[in-house]
Amino acid sequence: MSATEKTATAAAFGTVFGEHLPIARFDGQAWGTMEVVPTQSVSFGVATHCLHYASECFEGLKAHKQVDGSIKAFRAEKNFARLQASAECLYLPVPPTELLEELVAAAISANASVVPDSPGSLYLRPNLLGTDLNIGAASKPSKTAALYVLASPVGAYLPPHMLRIVVESAIPRTTPQFGRVKCGANYAMALGVIRKAAEEHDADQVLFAPGGFIEETGAANFVLLEEGRLITSPLSDSFLHGVTRDSLLQLARSLDWQVEERPVSVEELVEWCKRPGAEAGLAGTAAILGGVGTLIVKGEEIQVGTGKSGPATEKLRGMLTEIQVGKRSFDFA
Ligand SMILES: *Cc1c(COP(=O)(O)O)cnc(C)c1O
Repeated sequence: MSATEKTATAAAFGTVFGEHLPIARFDGQAWGTMEVVPTQSVSFGVATHCLHYASECFEGLKAHKQVDGSIKAFRAEKNFARLQASAECLYLPVPPTELLEELVAAAISANASVVPDSPGSLYLRPNLLGTDLNIGAASKPSKTAALYVLASPVGAYLPPHMLRIVVESAIPRTTPQFGRVKCGANYAMALGVIRKAAEEHDADQVLFAPGGFIEETGAANFVLLEEGRLITSPLSDSFLHGVTRDSLLQLARSLDWQVEERPVSVEELVEWCKRPGAEAGLAGTAAILGGVGTLIVKGEEIQVGTGKSGPATEKLRGMLTEIQVGKRSFDFA
């Protein structure tokens, strides 16, 4: 569905697309020049490498309408670096930063007329695909690739209720060597566990805790909060290094909160929830910071603090969204 057919903020997140798609191709030797084409005009052959062997990675960032009327992407350089790291892991051609900047700038300017007002935004989805037409290349990387930035005007991603999250200690989200890679294959691997949690517990997501220590959910990082304090797992190769997570840590430190990046066991998590001021949240570009009301551990429901949205969550979410629209300035490191 195109953005002119339906107003984005009323539509489900990610189902409405800008009409203009900046795209560049790698021919096996070099990147060609960017073109901006109609989004609906792009097609790939059925033998395309990524459709068979998952040679695909992506990014998700948002461009926000600023208080001065301009449109600005939030910390895009972090997403570019992460896409380059993902491309390396998948043995795909690594797109240069200047090309990524050019594509994102073009996605914003070409689709500027459909950027919703805040709290809506233009969600940008850079996508890098292996495009060799070769189903015999199961054990070989794709030599050719396509890189485009799909634009999607969006409103809220999370449901309006406090989230219900199942804690899963037995099955990991992905393999350790792919934890840091933002690739579609990771989502396919986590899908069964998340579906089961939804069916059995009416859960919104799953918090993966391989080996009994919490890491992240299927599509967002996880933080524990109370007034003046933030706790989250230390970065490792086995989970995604979120830009939102990093931003929240920097904001909490700027407020002189106690910030702890350390392993948290499922037992400690359960104890944490009993504190009256306990809060927990999902941190990601789409979600921003979504409050968690209930955890389900070994089939048992545990309320997080009061079960309602708390002051620490509101404070950080408020600051971050003000920075994103230029209402508040902040120098991220
Ligand atoms: C994208 C993603 C995140 C969040 O990263 P942000 O940069 O904050 O958007 C967290 N976990 C997974 C698995 C992701 O794919």
